[in-house]
Amino acid sequence: MTVGQLETIVSEAIDLKYYWNAIILTGGEPTLHPQLFELLEVLKKYKNFNPGCQFRLETNGAGGPTQAVLKKIPDWIAVCNSEKKEGKDDYAFLTYQVAPVDMPADRSADFSKGCFVLSECYGLCATMFGYYPCSPCMNVARVFGSDIGIQKLSKVTEKALRGQMKILCQYCGFFKRGLEERVLAEKVSRSWKKAFEEYGKQKPVLSLYPAIENSPGRAEISSREDPRR
Ligand code: SF4
Repeated sequence: MTVGQLETIVSEAIDLKYYWNAIILTGGEPTLHPQLFELLEVLKKYKNFNPGCQFRLETNGAGGPTQAVLKKIPDWIAVCNSEKKEGKDDYAFLTYQVAPVDMPADRSADFSKGCFVLSECYGLCATMFGYYPCSPCMNVARVFGSDIGIQKLSKVTEKALRGQMKILCQYCGFFKRGLEERVLAEKVSRSWKKAFEEYGKQKPVLSLYPAIENSPGRAEISSREDPRR
């Protein structure tokens, strides 16, 4: 995300009087952003508008450059460091890349409902490609080439978010039943394999936020086609 993009997000939020409870900077690895401290200056404008908002930066804490940046993070931002601890070799992952649409039990589900992540983990995700219901949604959109980011905060409605989820959640492993399965090695289902193959041939291009209104590709989500169907 650029400094200009964050300035637009902050201005929209202030204009619309959005009093968010928390803003979380996540990645990738946010400490490696070359303009992180300029971004924090922009966020300070939102903090001044909404002093009750909590700010958090998520990091893996790995490497000299990250460690150097972490020492300079201002104290109004809480640092959540997932740095791997000694003896913690049993770290296992949920099967995010096993798509519910590839599983007979979940194939016909109502994907517009989303999953527990919306209420228990993260909320609205502001990205360089617009707004998405959550960060896993954004990851699906990038790999599958779904150019459906919402390009204005004022257009973030329940209907619009459910339209995104209807398309994206069918590929997100967090949606499916049996989520308790944990894996140490990568597990990838048919749809993701195909998407990765296509990604390898040609990386999808998504519209950058904020897109010019009425430009090609900015039609209503409900009329856009799922690229994999
Ligand atoms: S994209 Fe994944 S994490 Fe986000 S709401 Fe859908 S199923 Fe849940």
